[in-house]
Amino acid sequence: MTALADPIDRIVAGNRVFAQKTSEANPNAFLELTKGQWPEILWVGCADSRIPETTVCDCMPGDIFVHRNIANCVHPDDVSAASVVEYAVTHLRVKKVVVCGHTKCGGAIASLSDADLGTTLNTWLHPVRELRRKHKAELEKLPDNDARAVRVAELNVLQAIDVLKQHPAVKKAASERNLTLHGMIYDLGKGQLRVLEVTGGKKGNGLWSPN
Ligand SMILES: [Zn+2]
Repeated sequence: MTALADPIDRIVAGNRVFAQKTSEANPNAFLELTKGQWPEILWVGCADSRIPETTVCDCMPGDIFVHRNIANCVHPDDVSAASVVEYAVTHLRVKKVVVCGHTKCGGAIASLSDADLGTTLNTWLHPVRELRRKHKAELEKLPDNDARAVRVAELNVLQAIDVLKQHPAVKKAASERNLTLHGMIYDLGKGQLRVLEVTGGKKGNGLWSPN
């Protein structure tokens, strides 16, 4: 990224660099992308600027279909998330669905208390705060709020996976073509992904499938 003062100038200049480098590495890269997309992964992640999934997973445009929001929540009544899931699973036929939480997540940290963040954010984070209340005893045993926020982030990933398991498109794809769900936590301080065990998962290694 160049050192231009204006952030818009910076992203436009950065984009020119990206386009040039990508074309130099593969002259057909952009032509190929105009033909369609065949991502194998749907990534549900946090909107946090520090976890651009394509960058931190060393992937390229076209590799990962994405839904990101504050604290990587999947609420049963969220039409935006459900549409992304339906399109990715039914139409793009992704093979894997990843839900990725992370350390130092502002949403998870905010969910450790009931501080008033404004009506919309209070509503959005309500299910995460409910998780905190439900797991109060476990969380109180942890040494500090950093550890509690990581545990809340993990619980929130598992909750999102529970909601995804009920999505009709996911249920169908899981039974018909072995679509699997994977929970992960990205450690911001290390730049590394950790695969969570998904409770109830058949193989106990982050995979879930009804088969
Ligand atoms: Zn976050």
